[in-house]
Amino acid sequence: MKRVFFLVNIGCYLVILAYVGIVAASAVASGYPWTITCYNCGLCRQSCPIGLDPYGFIAAATANDRTTMMQAVNVKLLPHEAALLDRNMPLVNSAGQRVDINNLTPEQARDEVFVSRMQARYAASFCILCGNCERICPIKLPIMTIIKDYRNAASL
Ligand code: SF4
Ligand code: SF4
Repeated sequence: MKRVFFLVNIGCYLVILAYVGIVAASAVASGYPWTITCYNCGLCRQSCPIGLDPYGFIAAATANDRTTMMQAVNVKLLPHEAALLDRNMPLVNSAGQRVDINNLTPEQARDEVFVSRMQARYAASFCILCGNCERICPIKLPIMTIIKDYRNAASL
């Protein structure tokens, strides 16, 4: 029986090692290997004056995927502007009701909508580069490096 537990433990360690290896390889491939040192403490999230969650940029860079969805709670757009960015973006109106961008009434088409989550590559263009997230980060991660790169990327 002891041998079974031993083998299960070894198997678990190997799975964890493989996961960590995949995450590290992805972060290195993205050009931001330092992102794996982020421990998602959430301090940068509380410091953003425009409601972005800067950890979303870290997560996108770690995954090497600029389309990673992240929190962006104070971004306001007209529906046609939101549609140009991403037709699948979750949106609500000023009353907090869900807005389906693919099925708008004439009134909804005129009213501004609030974003709750958006792709990191688009969220970067709304960042005002105030630097709060970097200043408050306990390990001083250069989050704005990712944001500036995403803003400059041709995909924006
Ligand atoms: S403050 Fe720094 S360590 Fe904390 S979640 Fe943000 S980037 Fe990560
Ligand atoms: S630099 Fe951008 S993401 Fe960071 S706190 Fe300022 S507005 Fe938010």
